[in-house]
Amino acid sequence: MEVQVGCRVIVPFGRSKFYTAIVSRIHTEKPEGYAVKQVLEQIDTTPILLPTQLKLWQWMADYYLCALGDVYKAALPSGLKLESDGEEIIRGFKPKEEVRVRLATEYQSEEALHALFDQLAKTPKRLDLLMRWLELSNFFGSELKEVSKRRLMNDEKSSVSAFNGLISKGIFQTYSVEVGRLSTGNVEKTVIPHKLNAQQSLALQQITETFRQKNVCLLHGVTSSGKTEVYIKLIEQALQEGKQVLYLLPEIALTTQVTKRLQRVFGDKLGIYHSKFSDNERVEIWKKQLSDTPYDIILGVRSSVFLPFQRLGLVIVDEEHETTYKQQDPAPRYHARSAAIMLAHMVGAKTLLGTATPSVESWYNATTAGKYGLVQLTERYQALQLPEVRAVDIGELRHKKLMHGTLSPQLLNAMRDALNLGEQIILFQNRRGFAQLMECHTCGWIPRCVNCDVTLTYHRAVNQLVCHYCGYSITPPRACPACGDTDIRGIGAGTERVEDELNAYFPGVKIARMDLDTTQSRSSYERIIHDFEEGKTKVLIGTQMISKGLDFGNVSVVGILNADLMLNYPDFRAYERAFQLMEQVAGRAGRKHKQGLVILQTSDMKHPIIHQVRQNDYLSMVQTQLEERLQFHYPPYYRMVYVYLKHRNAPLLDQMAETMATKLRVLFGGRVLGPDRPPVAKVQKMFIRKIMLKFEMGSSYSRIRTLLMQVQQEMLANDKFKSLTIYYDVDPA
Ligand code: ADP
Ligand code: ZN
Ligand code: ZN
Repeated sequence: MEVQVGCRVIVPFGRSKFYTAIVSRIHTEKPEGYAVKQVLEQIDTTPILLPTQLKLWQWMADYYLCALGDVYKAALPSGLKLESDGEEIIRGFKPKEEVRVRLATEYQSEEALHALFDQLAKTPKRLDLLMRWLELSNFFGSELKEVSKRRLMNDEKSSVSAFNGLISKGIFQTYSVEVGRLSTGNVEKTVIPHKLNAQQSLALQQITETFRQKNVCLLHGVTSSGKTEVYIKLIEQALQEGKQVLYLLPEIALTTQVTKRLQRVFGDKLGIYHSKFSDNERVEIWKKQLSDTPYDIILGVRSSVFLPFQRLGLVIVDEEHETTYKQQDPAPRYHARSAAIMLAHMVGAKTLLGTATPSVESWYNATTAGKYGLVQLTERYQALQLPEVRAVDIGELRHKKLMHGTLSPQLLNAMRDALNLGEQIILFQNRRGFAQLMECHTCGWIPRCVNCDVTLTYHRAVNQLVCHYCGYSITPPRACPACGDTDIRGIGAGTERVEDELNAYFPGVKIARMDLDTTQSRSSYERIIHDFEEGKTKVLIGTQMISKGLDFGNVSVVGILNADLMLNYPDFRAYERAFQLMEQVAGRAGRKHKQGLVILQTSDMKHPIIHQVRQNDYLSMVQTQLEERLQFHYPPYYRMVYVYLKHRNAPLLDQMAETMATKLRVLFGGRVLGPDRPPVAKVQKMFIRKIMLKFEMGSSYSRIRTLLMQVQQEMLANDKFKSLTIYYDVDPA
């Protein structure tokens, strides 16, 4: 048998176990250290993977310190994987089939057909059906068309018994054809793209020039400066050169608006790919990208970097600063921005990173390090003013008893004015649920997850206390299990609680909430965004989901309900994140006809980040952050690797973590910190410990990797430590 790279094969292991594998290399080298297995069958006749995909996946496994199999699992839609199940291999992908109807060949001459007309004269319903088929198939025209059974019978005159009669007489025959689920053809181009203004044309020109010398360019453009318009021009140029484009977005919520904008210009050249698609749909996009007629543009979230591209020329990473580009769990814990840059590099394509608030890393790469080009758009389109940011001291208001819930009098006034003028409002609260947690007011008891080391969040809509890690949920107890008192209250305020307050302040005003709980399905995102765009809802409350790039014309007030929550987060990126989030949310205000107003509620009025947000001073933020990162040994000056150890037995785990940290210290000295308990130190009954490593950016990463793998092997070679799980998070976000 001839095997081919990129094809799936079935390999037997033992008597009744079968595995599917992908052929990654064909060679005649003598195997060392492993036994050769026979290939039973090659499943594919043509490869389902292109060589660059394999190369990218290998890079990902190496760089992010995980198994190639983990990457393969994350990358392939399950319909393209075959699972081993005893004797039988289940083929996952179910092609969608359509039944079609044809006229038996012996009736296809004019003579035979006339005889048939006579024969059917006594059965008018059969004759009707035959006539309908002849019409649909364009039988007397120049080109015969296929006729689906659905279409043929989709007429009130079509009779099922007549159809069955024609089949049993052998006049009609049916056959099945595999048809796609991808939407076909109906997406028409409707507009020619906008003409760029002077600022945007200059940016386009500078990007094109940058790409002559550098592979990556950072486009730093304030919100609403027309970055998307510049992307559209770049895409046009790439298509003219016969290249494909990958357009990455951090969040599914954003795809709706961008899809509409791109579809109007590029019609059905555009394909969309994300996790809310059914697996079968994803398989079809995958196959289409391997075919002779792939989509020229793929718009998608981070997993689209895994798709096959035959002639990729340009990658756009929109909102490049978003940490949702980093996959947290499971492995591969990859950053889609890094993966995209690597993919582009491997195929000789260019990468454009776009954002209003560049990540500290990208800024550094585009300035000090000189690795990327830097192009800026400093004015909003049509010189719209940036919003006015007014900070409100909620600490003082609470102290003076002037604020009860989550909305300050200043914010309520601004909202009232806006609603009177028929304008819309966005409120940003970075946590979901009704109340963050419940607490016994008498003894301080707090309900916690039985499996994980976290408190449970109360969700009023379902009256449940829920664990956001493992999904464990209980009905809130009537009495405190610790002291028996019944005074159990919610503390803290999530999006649901805000919604409640609003209903009390503004009865009759339509309010929508957008967070993980209200957007479980693909259509729910679209509905919430659509209703707000149409002005059906007046106030939109949301978590960080609403901060990203959504473009609404009639929003005049934005409220940031609690900046402290973001600033107090224990992470070296907390300030950077807080600034980005607040800038992005603020950017939703006053986009089309007037200057917007942002009410920024905080009890930390003197915090430098609050000041920087009020001044819209990105430069000052990034410079302060870079100084701190250098001083305290963080990226972009240092590469961080978190080593996680996981085990059921906590004391044994502590011992193993100490042993491993000691081994690492022998090799890396003071670059090793910990072991520590991570913020969530127990998940699904497994305890977790974390060791933090910080390496100077210049040091050899491949050497570090080799040493890490050695230590891991030594650990697992110890009989006592066998059941230990070790995994890594490289460049944690
Ligand atoms: P950004 O991506 O930087 O936030 P957008 O591309 O969304 O900015 O532009 C903001 C708004 O201004 C959009 O509604 C867009 O259609 C409009 N706009 C920007 N540039 C132009 C242009 N050159 N011609 C017409 N409309 C434009
Ligand atoms: Zn109690
Ligand atoms: Zn849990």
